[in-house]
Amino acid sequence: MMSEVINVPAIFGSDVFNEAAMEQNLRPEIYSAWKQCIQTDTPLGIDVANEIAEAMKEWAIKKGATHYTHWFQPMTGITAEKHDSFITPTGDGRVIMEFSGKELVRGEPDASSFPSGGLRATFEARGYTAWDPTAFAFVKDGSLFIPTCFFSYTGESLDKKTPLLRSLDEVSREAVRILRLFGDTETKHVNASVGAEQEYFLIPKDLYAKREDLRITGRTLFGAPAPKGQELEDHYFGTIRTRVSRYMKDLDEQLWRLGILSKTKHNEAAPCQHELAPIYSSANNACDSNQLIMEIMKKCAAKHNLVCLLHEKPFQGVNGSGKHNNWSLSTDSGRNLFSPGKTPRQNAQFLVFLAAFIQGVDEYQDFLRCTIASAGNDHRLGANEAPPAIVSIFLGDELTAVVESIINGTNYTEPEKSSIRIGVDVLPSIPKDTTDRNRTSPLAFTGNKFEFRMLGSSQSIAGPNIALNTIMAEILSRFADELERADDFDSALQKIVSKAFTEHQRIIFNGNGYSDEWKEEAARRGLHNLKTTAECMPTYVSDQNVELVTKHGIFTETEFRARYAIHLDAYCKLVNIEARTTLDMALQQILPAATAYTSSLCNDVIQKDTIRIPHIAETALIKKLSKATDSMYSECEKLSDVLNNIPVDVEDAARYYCDVVIPKMNAIRSEADILEQFTDKSYWPYPTYSDILFY
Ligand code: ADP
Ligand code: MG
Repeated sequence: MMSEVINVPAIFGSDVFNEAAMEQNLRPEIYSAWKQCIQTDTPLGIDVANEIAEAMKEWAIKKGATHYTHWFQPMTGITAEKHDSFITPTGDGRVIMEFSGKELVRGEPDASSFPSGGLRATFEARGYTAWDPTAFAFVKDGSLFIPTCFFSYTGESLDKKTPLLRSLDEVSREAVRILRLFGDTETKHVNASVGAEQEYFLIPKDLYAKREDLRITGRTLFGAPAPKGQELEDHYFGTIRTRVSRYMKDLDEQLWRLGILSKTKHNEAAPCQHELAPIYSSANNACDSNQLIMEIMKKCAAKHNLVCLLHEKPFQGVNGSGKHNNWSLSTDSGRNLFSPGKTPRQNAQFLVFLAAFIQGVDEYQDFLRCTIASAGNDHRLGANEAPPAIVSIFLGDELTAVVESIINGTNYTEPEKSSIRIGVDVLPSIPKDTTDRNRTSPLAFTGNKFEFRMLGSSQSIAGPNIALNTIMAEILSRFADELERADDFDSALQKIVSKAFTEHQRIIFNGNGYSDEWKEEAARRGLHNLKTTAECMPTYVSDQNVELVTKHGIFTETEFRARYAIHLDAYCKLVNIEARTTLDMALQQILPAATAYTSSLCNDVIQKDTIRIPHIAETALIKKLSKATDSMYSECEKLSDVLNNIPVDVEDAARYYCDVVIPKMNAIRSEADILEQFTDKSYWPYPTYSDILFY
């Protein structure tokens, strides 16, 4: 069968009111006013907004839109939308389609049900949305979507976009200061670029529907291992099956229409696991895009009788899913600041940015770690899976050699030259080492960018990018303070870079991140190993982190503490739901199945007895099943009991869920998985791992 031809350039971005669409649909003065507004961060006048709104509406109606919605990213980690139609009554029983500048720039969703961490008292439930003119509106499912920031009546940010935008401004400002010191008078903005690789599972919809755990929690809470796992390594980059390939094609087309640069697709390590990687774009755009990618991945699956699982660990014993956040900084003329340069001067500048990154990550390891903490990600980080919970940076052997020679003040490669002096002509050319030989590192330098691999597959990428930008802004600002004051720039530079490398070299690790030796070595180096959400989250609101985020205006202290409370509360709620689902399935499905089968075995035994036939297998099975059934039941009683004693304080509760509730859930699971292995399949109430993963 010939596949249908898609004219990709023609459809790409066709549903986005992007720069081209704006230029085409707006009067030149209005288009320039908008450009001016985004380039200089100045507010848009209402007259301009009115004209943009009108043009947007006309354009959207032609694309099939009848409604518009402010689209925002509350602290749930997913997106929110509330649709209003364009209709306005004319008084004679008819309507016209209207959309004003006021409606474009500002919205007032009833926001009382979004998490606010106590920021929004119930008597002041109003939340406001404000258009982010740096992100493009788009049409999807018959509505015009307007990307917005979400904040409270008193002006506190209630979303993930606002602090991301603030952090982008900060890192830009501080990076420009450094560039000025290197004689760059041109650059006005430095942009953080992000490419987020997204992993996901696709499983048959009918099988999914039969599993309460998958439907309610997004992961399997039970399941004995399938006879085959991923040990044959036959899935990674393997041939994509037709059904999945059709899905991927459909998905790409939908993403391209929305101007999302979907580039790479392949099978991942685990059975039924896949990956999509877009081409990198500005962090704000990458964050919006990743939200849309996750949403459309799920919606599109339904059309293909599949379900897309974005949970970090849908199946025990097979690889879970993460997200690789590739991050770099580049100037408004497109020069990558993490690209080693051709001249000693460019390399000196590269080393300043590298040193700032290394110092920042080392000083704020816990902050970074917290931004990717979640109940789902706890199953990956530190749980014998990629990557470990310890934050470290992989630099590769060659760059590490450069760093070491700077620390030691020794020769690098060419013995006849003197030791490395930064900023002067003897600095050697730095090899661009793109060969990324280490897949176990949580944060790897890959030639001209850092790949942060600790993100969970379902998480918003806003949090980690806020942290990366802010950390970078902080260290760059300290460097800039010193360099701006220095009498001798070159020697100050030498001192700063070599001090940063020397004091923070402990964060550099090029070895195997999964090994036990690394855990011991990391402990000797004094690096954090915060294994669970409950363990790491209290560090989030340390004095150091509060000072960092407030100094740079990323969060007010109130906003920051509210986020902390929301983060922990979400963790507790999630584990609570998992625990209750565990009880439901154990008592209402697994126990009845096991006892029904046991009872049929007992009948067999009685009948065999009457005709004096031995029944060794039956008796053995009855014993095994009865033992596991009894144990499972008693574990269920214990779990019920502990669920009745959840501490009130959210920090205590998180620890309790982690230390008390989860082990009880696991104990139930162990017994249930034994029952699964010895129960007649026709009695078993839900599809097994081999049914699902090898359909
Ligand atoms: P992998 O990590 O699987 O080897 P690639 O090398 O293809 O994958 O790149 C992964 C991602 O990194 C892609 O989304 C790509 O667009 C992105 N990327 C490449 N260069 C940069 C950069 N300078 N800044 C941010 N992301 C980048
Ligand atoms: Mg990668």
